[in-house]
Amino acid sequence: MKTLLIEKLGSIGGIWGPGLKPGGGTQAPGPYSETEKSDRYDKGPGGYPAIWVYPEIAGISKEFTERLEKISGVNRLDQASAVSYVATMMLKEAGVDLLVSTYVTDPIMDGTSVRGVFVENKSGRGAVKAKVVIDATGEADVARRAGAPALYPKEIYNEVDGHSPNGFGIVAIVGGIDWSKYSGLRADFPGRDIAGRGTTRGAFSARLSPYDNLSTFNVQLRDPEPPLLDYAKFNAGDGKDISLLETEMRLYIFELVQHYKKTVPGCENAFIVSISPYLGLRGGPCIEGEYVFTLDDAKAGRRFDDVMYLFGENRALQHTCLKEGKCKWVDVPYRVMIPKKIDGLLAVGRSASGIPDTVLRNVMAVQHMGQAGGTAAALAIKNRVEVRSLNVKELQRKLLEAGFYLGDESRLKELRLGNKS
Ligand SMILES: Cc1cc2nc3c(=O)[nH]c(=O)nc-3n(C[C@H](O)[C@H](O)[C@H](O)COP(=O)(O)OP(=O)(O)OC[C@H]3O[C@@H](n4cnc5c(N)ncnc54)[C@H](O)[C@@H]3O)c2cc1C
Repeated sequence: MKTLLIEKLGSIGGIWGPGLKPGGGTQAPGPYSETEKSDRYDKGPGGYPAIWVYPEIAGISKEFTERLEKISGVNRLDQASAVSYVATMMLKEAGVDLLVSTYVTDPIMDGTSVRGVFVENKSGRGAVKAKVVIDATGEADVARRAGAPALYPKEIYNEVDGHSPNGFGIVAIVGGIDWSKYSGLRADFPGRDIAGRGTTRGAFSARLSPYDNLSTFNVQLRDPEPPLLDYAKFNAGDGKDISLLETEMRLYIFELVQHYKKTVPGCENAFIVSISPYLGLRGGPCIEGEYVFTLDDAKAGRRFDDVMYLFGENRALQHTCLKEGKCKWVDVPYRVMIPKKIDGLLAVGRSASGIPDTVLRNVMAVQHMGQAGGTAAALAIKNRVEVRSLNVKELQRKLLEAGFYLGDESRLKELRLGNKS
């Protein structure tokens, strides 16, 4: 298929790339075995296996991770540039056209069908026609502008996921720290008031990790004490709110580092090397899909006939592995990517349909969803059908060919995907 990737920043990789977030939620290639414990996978807090995609990552995600690990350390700062490099090389090898430094604005509509997108860049306004548009903007920008019903994060979601709603965060890289003198992890700092709607109080979750002589500084809009209210007072789908947060959080990062310099031993010569060029999110608005995936689905390890991959949601694994004594992985159904009412569009990653808003966010899992979304779009175009009318078995067969795991032999038979079916 002729494919164009449009990215508003100058490099690709989203939060894991230019977003500067090193590691976290990653998974080494290789199978997980409940009986043979292996060093190939990480452990979550409390010791449960951090297998976000069961039983192992597959397809493009696997190739991407293998190539990434050859040139960068795992969970290290050098990963950010390596993520962009490897992803860009793989896109070029696959013959994908790239249009970076280009903002996707409005969808081109024909009734309730998306037929392409308008873009803005140095050349001015342009139009890109497409048979299928895949919305990977994180906040379902294209779908929402197309008039697709959207789900907006709610404050109450914080009860089930401490990073919800929205989970804003900007990562900064700070240099000049003398680790031999540095001992404290946090410094008390009053933070900035954000238009009376919250404060960036304290260096919450500031991670000063001894990678090389640098550290990451994960600054988040977060109240130190529960209930966590500040996240909910901002709408990640609102341009003015994003502008306000970006501005105040960047001022805060600078002021906070100055404060560290004056008060924290080992930070006397600290300086900001780089700040992520955009405000990162773990959730935010998403489509109301033909299926809305929930944390309860993940905890129950539900099976869906339109499964794309088996997902180990972090909170669900904590619950099932540690509280129930048996880890459960859940099917992620194809319908989470299909918006209600609007055709010609698939939403992947954080833009896909889930409650709480953060539930589908894992970095490895979104890569599998991306491959499934791209494959579905190609099949729909080839078969001249809308993505919502796609024969899901055909998609599943393609995913199996690509190495995805959709269940054991008996489950595949049940799904009529066994060898003889
Ligand atoms: C501080 C922080 C820490 C995190 N820690 C973890 C962790 O430890 N483990 C984990 O699994 N996950 C973590 N996450 C979440 C994870 O990074 C995201 O869920 C994941 O990156 C989502 O991928 P995505 O492709 O949907 O969105 P993104 O990575 O946000 O990518 C969206 C892309 O779309 C581009 N874009 C957006 N709008 C437009 C537009 N209008 N036009 C053109 N381009 C556009 C953006 O520039 C970006 O490149 C963290 C997130 C943050 C912010």
